[in-house]
Amino acid sequence: MGKPIIKEAQKSNPYGFENPLSYARKMDTEDPLKMFREKFYIPIINGKESIYFTGNSLGLQPKNAQEYILNDLEDWANYGVEGHFHGRNPWTKYHEKFPRLLSAILGAKEEEIVVMNELTINLHLMLTTFYRPTKERFKIICEEKAFPSDQYALESRVLLAGYDPAKTIIEVKPRPGEHAIRNEDIISTIEENGREVALVLFGGINYYSGQVFDMAAITKSAHEVGAFCGFDLAHAAGNVELNLHEWNVDFACWCSYKYLNSGPGSVAGAFIHQQHVTNKTLLRLAGWWGTNKETRFKMEKKFDPILTAEGWLVSNSSILNMSCHKASLDIIEEAGFKNILEKSKKLSTYLFFILHDINKNSSRKIIEIITPENENEHGCQVSILMPEKGKEIFDSLIENSVIVDWREPNVIRLAPVPLYNTFEDIYRFGEIIKKMPGLQ
Ligand SMILES: *Cc1c(COP(=O)(O)O)cnc(C)c1O
Repeated sequence: MGKPIIKEAQKSNPYGFENPLSYARKMDTEDPLKMFREKFYIPIINGKESIYFTGNSLGLQPKNAQEYILNDLEDWANYGVEGHFHGRNPWTKYHEKFPRLLSAILGAKEEEIVVMNELTINLHLMLTTFYRPTKERFKIICEEKAFPSDQYALESRVLLAGYDPAKTIIEVKPRPGEHAIRNEDIISTIEENGREVALVLFGGINYYSGQVFDMAAITKSAHEVGAFCGFDLAHAAGNVELNLHEWNVDFACWCSYKYLNSGPGSVAGAFIHQQHVTNKTLLRLAGWWGTNKETRFKMEKKFDPILTAEGWLVSNSSILNMSCHKASLDIIEEAGFKNILEKSKKLSTYLFFILHDINKNSSRKIIEIITPENENEHGCQVSILMPEKGKEIFDSLIENSVIVDWREPNVIRLAPVPLYNTFEDIYRFGEIIKKMPGLQ
């Protein structure tokens, strides 16, 4: 018997899309999450409901958010300062609602999660604890083209510690001609720098390429050389499966306004592994909200850290941000995170198919996909390079009520989000590109 022959069409078309439009409509009709789109405000552009593919940048507003905020405003009106202890959601305990809601999303134990501040601030708080360089061990390994805020944060920490960023921050790059960073190159960089590595810090997903890193393997390798390992999960939280506890990740941070739909600049979060949270000797930037709750209001001297991730809390909570966060996480809980992930995989596979189809429809390759197509290496974001007429395409998409994210010089990031995007959104996007003058 010869080798089984896999037809080309089947390889690039694992779901067997014969008629892409009827397939899209069928998938939307059968979608167990289809009623969730109604729970969000879909922006109207040029008089039409938009095709919104920028949930990776700012998730849409859940319709219940206004009610949640109004409840907290009402409690403030009715109770004044007593709202800290009375009312529907006493404010001193508001942040305690989140670990339960986030634990499935992060693959973390409740005691490992705290919701507080904003993302880059949390990164600084984590670096204070987990980046303690010495003459022998001072290097940081990270990805090339990390999100700029992370680059600035790292560089400023290195300078504060009195080291030279050029000799301290080691960036792992894709190989020439490739867009994704190979896991083996990350591991070998960690091994080569060995005992000089103090910290390995990666995005869970690179914001630009959409590549998901092998967080388990990176953590293991960092630990083998005796370094701490942390992740910025801005693009991963709520988007892909995470198992932070099991992977033994030391710390992680994320924001809530991308895939967690909690509103612009809303409250962020941090994960600190169980093995660290009970360690009172870990140095940190302390504040009154992180001290023992029994004695907090005695207002005495001597910080006594809470023995959970809450021990890293600094200030009292930003309640109105938390109302939006709660509104959104309640929807995610109702939908079921597993169901969201399942739909996400189907949506992105369909998007890959439509993108290949656009190329097939043209006399040349007008789209280069830079996000890895392997199922374990991407979330719902797919980044594409469009070398021809980049900006014209972007402008014409907006005219057609399609909101995508444009990065100079010619990268478009597309993120069909399972809670509110449809298969038909993807189909229509493909048709709009195919009809653009000059791309056939
Ligand atoms: C979105 C994003 C940020 C934004 O930081 P803020 O502190 O929330 O303004 C930081 N890092 C990464 C990787 C991001 O994707």
